[in-house]
Amino acid sequence: MKIICIGRNYADHAKELNNQVPAEPVVFLKPDSAILPKGNAFFIPDFSQNLQHELEIVIRIDRLGKHIEEKFAHRYYQEFTLGLDFTARDLQSKLKEKGLPWEKAKAFDGSAFIGPWLNKEEYDLNNLNFSLLKNGETVQKGNSKDMLFSVDRIIAEVSKYFTLKIGDLIFTGTPAGVGAVQTNDLLDLHLEGKSIAQLRVK
Ligand code: ZN
Repeated sequence: MKIICIGRNYADHAKELNNQVPAEPVVFLKPDSAILPKGNAFFIPDFSQNLQHELEIVIRIDRLGKHIEEKFAHRYYQEFTLGLDFTARDLQSKLKEKGLPWEKAKAFDGSAFIGPWLNKEEYDLNNLNFSLLKNGETVQKGNSKDMLFSVDRIIAEVSKYFTLKIGDLIFTGTPAGVGAVQTNDLLDLHLEGKSIAQLRVK
């Protein structure tokens, strides 16, 4: 399986990193080895002094597809969750300056934390409130209606390039409020005001 990630999908986050709002989705990949195994703590890798959290809505593909039309995209996923796209921001900035790919800063082991799967029929995926609490304090807050590219639009765009396979994950981008994590931080992922997953940083 593969993990497809969308960058700069919320205007307020693009702005906080001094990036332009994109005309089409910014796409990068993580390998399956990036998934943080269930129950594990997140260990800050020693190659970063500015390891940041990015809270995102994640969907799981459950049907094989290529060149999927936006109007049929909803048939290709049933479940979603919240996840964290951990980013070595210092390393990413250096790579960006040189025009190099971001993988070392974005796709390292443990860089993809995934919450419990939820049925999309029980929620309004286009109006979903989600937030991240760090040590009890809200640091990121978003609503999926503010996405520049909706989930269905993302599926249409990325499936022009990549065959989507059962089990593939799509991280749909982060709202504003990204920031560094420190050893012993407790990260608490909230959906519609309720905690659905917690993670300790080591
Ligand atoms: Zn991200």
